[in-house]
Amino acid sequence: MFRNFKSVEKTAYGRGSFDKLSDILQPIRSEKQSYILFCLDEYFADNDSFKSRIPIQENDFLEIIEVKEEPTTELIDRLRDKYLEKGLPAGIVGIGGGSVMDVAKALSLMFTNEGSSTQYQGLNLIKKPGIWACGVPTISGTGAEVSMTAVLTGPVKKLGLKCDWTVLNQIVLDPDLIATVPDNQWFYTGMDCYIHCVESMTGDFKNSFSEAYGFKALEMCREVFLELDRTDPRSDELLMVASYMGGLSLTYSEVGVCHALSYGMSKILHTHHGIANCIAFYHLEDVYGDYVQEFKSMISKHNIDIPQGMSESWDEATIDAMTEVAYNLPHMWRHAFGENWESVLDRDRIKAWYRRM
Ligand code: NAD
Ligand code: ZN
Repeated sequence: MFRNFKSVEKTAYGRGSFDKLSDILQPIRSEKQSYILFCLDEYFADNDSFKSRIPIQENDFLEIIEVKEEPTTELIDRLRDKYLEKGLPAGIVGIGGGSVMDVAKALSLMFTNEGSSTQYQGLNLIKKPGIWACGVPTISGTGAEVSMTAVLTGPVKKLGLKCDWTVLNQIVLDPDLIATVPDNQWFYTGMDCYIHCVESMTGDFKNSFSEAYGFKALEMCREVFLELDRTDPRSDELLMVASYMGGLSLTYSEVGVCHALSYGMSKILHTHHGIANCIAFYHLEDVYGDYVQEFKSMISKHNIDIPQGMSESWDEATIDAMTEVAYNLPHMWRHAFGENWESVLDRDRIKAWYRRM
C-alpha cells in the first residue's frame, strides 16, 4: 500500500492557546492585505465574552454557522458567493466542531474553484489550492482538524471534498474550549474518535503507521471514558489529542462497518455523525466483539442515552435506501472484510444490521 498525505502545517496546542490567534493571524494579514472570515459555531453566538476573544479587526467578518443540520453544498456555495462579493479573504478561521471546521475547509477551496461545490464531492476533483485556513475545535473526536476531507451533504450524495489542499494550514488546540460541551454530545463526538481507532486498526488496510496513532489514541480514549471523571482537567486534554491522533490513524487506514452504516443513516435520516455511529456500533458485537463491550461500559459509566428501537419506525423503503448508501462504500467493506468482501457482505446482511437498531 502506498499513501502520501499532506499534514497540517502548524499546530498550536495548550490551554490558553486560543488567545494567541491574533499573533497567529498577523503574518497572514500582512501578506495578503485582505480581511479574515471567521466562522463560528452557533453555540457561541450570544456569548459576548467568548466572542470578545476572537481577534476580529475592522475589515473582518464573523459568520455564525448553524449546525443543526450537517454542512450542505448549498450553504457553502451561498457563503462563497456572499463573501467573494467583498473580495477574496486573506484567510478563513473555523471555530467549532467537525461541522464548522468542515465549512471552513470547504469554503477555503470554493473561494478559488469555480462552480458549485457539488462538482467537487469526491477524491482529487478540486483544481486549485484554496485560501489559508485555520481550524479551532471546540468539541473533540471527529479528527476533522487533521483530515484531508471536508464532508458535505449535497443533493445526491454525502461525500467529502477530498484532496491535499483540504488539509488545514493551521490548527489551534486549546482544551479549555471543549469544557462546555453537554455530556451526551461530548460522548457521541468522543466516540467518533474511539470508533475511528477501532475500525482503522481492525481492517485490512491497517499498518504500523496507522496503528501507532490508533493504539495511543485508543489508550487515551480509555483513560477519558473509563478512568477519569469529566471534571478531571486531564480529560479534555487527552480527548483533544486523541481526536487528532485518531484522525491521523484513519488517514493511513480506513473506516469500516460502523461508518458505512452510519453514513446510510446520516444521508437518509439526517442523523448526526457522532450519534449515528453510536447507534450502529452498539449493535456490532458480531464484527467488533470486545470493543463493543468496552463501548457499553463507557456508556454505563457516563450514563449516556443511546437511542434504541429506532428501526421500529423505519419502513422497508427507508431501510432499502440506507442500505443502498452503505453498500456503495466499497472501500470501507474492502477494509473491513478483505479482498473477498463480496462473499461475506450483501445487502441482506446490511439490512439485518439496520433492523437491530
Ligand atoms: P458538530 O460540529 O456537529 O457539533 C455538535 C454540537 O456541539 C452542536 O450543537 C454544536 O453547537 C455543539 N458544540 C460545539 N462546541 C461546543 C462547545 N464548546 N460547547 C457546547 N456545545 C458545543 O459536532 P462534531 O461531532 O464535532 O462534528 C460532526 C460533523 O463533522 C459532521 O458533519 C460530520 O460529517 C463531520 N465529520 C467530518 C470529518 C472530517 O474528517 N472532515 C470526520 C468526521 C465527521
Ligand atoms: Zn467518523
